[in-house]
Amino acid sequence: MPTELTGYDPSLGNKFIFVTGGVMSGLGKGITAASTGRLLADAGFDVTAVKIDPYLNVDAGTMNPYQHGEVYVLKDGGEVDLDLGNYERFLDIDMTFDHNVTTGKAYRHVIEKERAGDYLGNTVQIIPHVTDDIKRRIREAAEGNDICLVEVGGTVGDIEGMPYLEALRQFAHEEDDEDILFAHVTLVPYSQAGEQKTKPTQHSVKELRSIGLQPDIVVGRCEDRLEPKTKEKIALFCDVPVEAVFSNPDVEDIYRVPLMVEEEGLDEYVMERLDLEETAASPADRADEWREVVTGETTDTVEIALAGKYDLEDAYISIHEALKHAGFETNTDVEVLWVDTDEMEAAHADRLQRADGVVVPGGFGARGLDGKIDVVRYAREHDVPFLGLCLGFQMAVVEFARNVCKLEGAHSAEVDEDTPHPVIDILPEQYEIEDMGGTMRLGAHETDVEAGTLAHEVYGADSCTERHRHRYEVNPEYIEAIEREGMTFSGRAGNRMEILELDDHPFFFGTQFHPEFRSRPGRASPPFVALVEAVLGGAEIDAGEVTA
Ligand code: GLN
Repeated sequence: MPTELTGYDPSLGNKFIFVTGGVMSGLGKGITAASTGRLLADAGFDVTAVKIDPYLNVDAGTMNPYQHGEVYVLKDGGEVDLDLGNYERFLDIDMTFDHNVTTGKAYRHVIEKERAGDYLGNTVQIIPHVTDDIKRRIREAAEGNDICLVEVGGTVGDIEGMPYLEALRQFAHEEDDEDILFAHVTLVPYSQAGEQKTKPTQHSVKELRSIGLQPDIVVGRCEDRLEPKTKEKIALFCDVPVEAVFSNPDVEDIYRVPLMVEEEGLDEYVMERLDLEETAASPADRADEWREVVTGETTDTVEIALAGKYDLEDAYISIHEALKHAGFETNTDVEVLWVDTDEMEAAHADRLQRADGVVVPGGFGARGLDGKIDVVRYAREHDVPFLGLCLGFQMAVVEFARNVCKLEGAHSAEVDEDTPHPVIDILPEQYEIEDMGGTMRLGAHETDVEAGTLAHEVYGADSCTERHRHRYEVNPEYIEAIEREGMTFSGRAGNRMEILELDDHPFFFGTQFHPEFRSRPGRASPPFVALVEAVLGGAEIDAGEVTA
């Protein structure tokens, strides 16, 4: 939702909002930051973000979603922390790999320079060499924007975070006061007596100050809004004006956080502090599509089963969000029913039978795979609207090959190297690759969409560009046998099968790519909208037993 800039003078240079977290992680500081960014964008500024992840991994690509949540994929193929997904969704921007700074990246670069002799004669140290590298990365990522949000992952006091906080301290010295703002997001818990407690906040700000950083604003995450006396206490102990203490209470939908933050006046305070009020659009002229999109009335409710193996909501966050966006677009409340494909008995099978539609998401490895194949079969045989993504697409091919094409034992070579019918096989360019980091087919690639197909209806175009993250693909040797039986590969990129559909089904759609990564509120991903529409359109579901 881009808004025309209202007279902002780029010669003023970038403004930086540094966001740190206190007390515990998982407080939603990314959402708080992204929400603030949304409001600044609505006021006419170009806003971008940098996420700092203080872990030693170079990127998130090798991490287990069960521990860290989903690996988010950027258009340039960067495999990053899921927070970048939130920034893309809230700010409606496309970020690049450079917007994720990790300790692995910074140290690797410094060590490579040391080996090349760039620091010849010097002792290479965290300060200044690593801190310089961190500052350079932030400045480069901010280039071309008015405001850059910089979120430091983890919690103040973590050993891993120290070089970053030191880098930010130096950064603040190098810039003018009105170009830098420090926001500290912290937890304000209730005591058993029902009182809002500020001690954890006081301690984390104390920790921040011991490193030489003084927050300009403090945002208290709490079940409810902070009471005036809580704000006063935080102001007094943390040495900020009481107007600089904000609440960010729990809300049932993250997309309402910008509205909450706006009610508290956080955006106005930030603009004033960064000397931006003159150039900001007047409140009456600010964009308000966001509010319209996220507060729209819903007229229907649908239940979509998400059949995965990680029982952690964050592992499939972009799919959840894409379903919500499809709900915004169709005025529908989309509820997600969790179906664990490792536990296809009892409760999980019941949920599958109750569902109006099914999504089988991406994934790696053998665990839960038989369950996924059962879910695909159930959706295919009972005319349940189905969307298969990446591994879900691959399992749709495997299920069809086995049960319709009668290719006994058909499988993906990823999990069964000895299958007589490797209908899904390793990409030829992957044969020689041994490293696991950043070596898949990654990022945005174009797919040709065949005219006259469901895919063409869904995308409304002859091509689509979506993000990828996979090593295996449909084996070209089986295409003819599969298509002969009524599965059509309606989206292709040369020899690569990208989209599948079934002729004889109300809605059976699979994509080798991950459309969920491009879905935004107000610009929902077409396959997700099509799934919800198929459900609303009353696809005849012939509910029956889940056959294992
Ligand atoms: N494991 C499969 C592959 O590598 C699917 C990957 C995915 O679902 N992201 O091709």
